[in-house]
Amino acid sequence: MKKINLLSALLILVLNIQAQDIKSHAEFLGHEPGMEFTLHHQAVDYFKYVADNSDYVSYISYGKTYEGRELGVVFVSSPENLADLEQIRKSNLINTGFLDGEEGGKQMPLVWLSYNVHGNESVGMEAALKTLYTLVSRSYEGVSDWLKECVIIIDPCQNPDGRDLYANRYKRSQSIKPNPNPDDWQHHEGWPSARLNHYLFDLNRDWVWQTQAETEQRIRLYNKYMPHVHADFHEMGAGSTFFFAPGADPWHAAITPWQHEFNELTGKTNAELFDKEYKLYFTKESFDLFCPSFGDTWPLFNGAMGFTYEQGGGGYAGLALDNESGDTLTLADRIEGHFLASMGTIKVSYENREKLITQFNDFFRSGLDKPVFEYESVIIKGDNDKSAIADLLKLLDKNQVKYSLASNSGKTYKAFDYLSNKEGEVKISEGDILVSARQPQSHLVKVLFEPDSKYIDSLSYDLTAWALPYVYNLEAYAVKDRIPASKLELKQATVKNEVPKNKPYAYIADHQGFNETKFMTALLKNKIRVRSMLKPFSISDNDFKRGSLIIARGDNMNINGDFDSKVIESANNSGVKLYPVSTGLVQKGKDLGSNYASLKYKPDIALIGGEGVSTGGFGELWYFLEREIEYPYTIIGLDYINSVDLAEYDVVILPSGSYSKQKEKLTDFVKQGGRLVLFGDAIKLFADEESTNLYKAIEARKKEKEKEEKKIATSDTTHLKKYENQRRERLNERSAGSIYRIGLDDTHPYAFGLGKEWFMMRTSSDHYPFLAKGNNIAYILNSEPVSGFAGKKFREEVKNTIAVASESIGRGEVIYITDSPYYRAYWKSGRILLGNILFR
Ligand SMILES: [Zn+2]
Repeated sequence: MKKINLLSALLILVLNIQAQDIKSHAEFLGHEPGMEFTLHHQAVDYFKYVADNSDYVSYISYGKTYEGRELGVVFVSSPENLADLEQIRKSNLINTGFLDGEEGGKQMPLVWLSYNVHGNESVGMEAALKTLYTLVSRSYEGVSDWLKECVIIIDPCQNPDGRDLYANRYKRSQSIKPNPNPDDWQHHEGWPSARLNHYLFDLNRDWVWQTQAETEQRIRLYNKYMPHVHADFHEMGAGSTFFFAPGADPWHAAITPWQHEFNELTGKTNAELFDKEYKLYFTKESFDLFCPSFGDTWPLFNGAMGFTYEQGGGGYAGLALDNESGDTLTLADRIEGHFLASMGTIKVSYENREKLITQFNDFFRSGLDKPVFEYESVIIKGDNDKSAIADLLKLLDKNQVKYSLASNSGKTYKAFDYLSNKEGEVKISEGDILVSARQPQSHLVKVLFEPDSKYIDSLSYDLTAWALPYVYNLEAYAVKDRIPASKLELKQATVKNEVPKNKPYAYIADHQGFNETKFMTALLKNKIRVRSMLKPFSISDNDFKRGSLIIARGDNMNINGDFDSKVIESANNSGVKLYPVSTGLVQKGKDLGSNYASLKYKPDIALIGGEGVSTGGFGELWYFLEREIEYPYTIIGLDYINSVDLAEYDVVILPSGSYSKQKEKLTDFVKQGGRLVLFGDAIKLFADEESTNLYKAIEARKKEKEKEEKKIATSDTTHLKKYENQRRERLNERSAGSIYRIGLDDTHPYAFGLGKEWFMMRTSSDHYPFLAKGNNIAYILNSEPVSGFAGKKFREEVKNTIAVASESIGRGEVIYITDSPYYRAYWKSGRILLGNILFR
């Protein structure tokens, strides 16, 4: 016995010497934690240094940001576990059903800690440095045991571009001694907020959608391991204390009883650690667990324990800030909060390690026998627009949701019809796609496909609706019966046009969806002239919809190089089927050379940004131009727009924002023949302008309402509203990200390719009536959303309002779009509308 004790004492000594050999982050970086902001590359260097010098740590890079910064994580565990990591990873996937193989292999909790998804919540990466050093130096009670039984994964910074923007700006405004006075410029960030990534996306709204490079690459790695616990470290207002689990209501119904229980356990563990340090905190408030966009909910729907931690501070807090309470909040204080929560998360995971694993496996395995979704099968009709199907399947792949072709072709089932939003039936056809709820991702299938997610409380932090058939505008059905999968393999059709032997008179592309938009912009970029037909027509025994594209040889006689191969190549790249024809004479409709076949021109597009412009709205449009249609654009800042000659541009885009100071300039641009596209709040620019039809419509509606409104006498007791209900009362006026059915004037070129109806996310609370003069292109005729929460007053006011309208001003045109049709870049169906408007 003595010998063994001596041996283990020696071992501990050796370990400690090893641990002491590793420089602390303070030694390595040359500053004490919290005394200055570490830049991202310095943190990466430290993480790599520790991995190079400790058997307890390995580092892997998982990609690059848009601005070229490295994304990486460390795995921290005992050397034995790290040597076995690949086996541990595989067992985890096999035991949950994601990977084929022999079940029962060794698993241990994979605890994933992610910091700084919001760049200006700047304590995150600093806390990650301390967490890593503490683990590797085993200098916190329990660490040695934790590392024997768990693997800790640390992502120091999910949003390096935002984080460095914050740190560099702060350093530029920094004084020798931090000035805690809130008036000092070091507490004021400027536009755009460093919270966001390069394209100004909020990466904590992107987990399920994965539109951004940072998220997509991170989740590819996440899915390779499937952690059991994921904690996401944030900051909230500097006046708040600290938030940890349990989360606030509403909780999504797909969250399991064990996940509820573990939330409670984590809350208790954190409370013990915070109590010892006399730190203030709160639970069950503000941060709910409902919408799958987040770093807590998405992991929850992927079987893990997902947590949000919020430290009081944020970009405003800098290195030190005087609080209203009279205390000075320092970066060092904030590091302590997230450090404690990091320790608490690992501790509770270690203490509950066995149940964590068995319940995790069960979460996925149970989906095979007992799906949690009330509908066993979702059918996506195979004849939907190809680009929409391709986008949907890409999203399902990213979320590890399996799908196949449906069998039982010809059979009819009772079903919920998403597009008509009511019970109906579906007849299975060959090529229909089946998403079965019987699969490891059963919970996620429920979350993504349930027509209307149930909330027990409507005070949600973000959206309340996201059912995928509405997002992609797809004919789809939810069926309670179990529809078997077909044995045939689902192959996505690739389009392969070939250069015809005889030179055709023209090529025609039917307007099906977004692929045609991409094709058209590719042609315009190649200086190939293209027409769009305003009416349906038939030629050479084929029927074509409104908006179909005509690429006539006669329009392109002066093309450099081979016209045919250029057209064919662009069509193949865009996935568009071409119909070559040998005549311009149609069988039905207007001839190809008719005035109804209007020539498209290549517009010069300007996008406006700057202080007062919504970062999210601006970012989506920037991303659309650059990444979706890859079309040249110019971004013009509001601060110098008055010195720019706007006559150089055909289209000027105003994202939601305030433009009152530039009103004259923008109005002149329209009067001279420009096209101005206004989103959300930007509409106010013309809503107050007496000469517009929009203003007249608003005034007319006001008068109608005054007549209708019954005045409540001041003595009426309905005025006696309770103070504690104030927040809830305000909800009356808003839509918490609910989905509305949009009626379309399908004869208007802006609506081509969308059909007669479409769906849009309503997030703004402004309502605009139909224009008596002008074009009411897209509109809302119902009070009720098809999915999600809209308040009582909102529902009353939204009925019979516009979603998209346009009117002429002078020689130009203004287009009003009330909400983002391409919401957060995942509302893919809106791309067709944007394309139609920009390239009229
Ligand atoms: Zn945050």
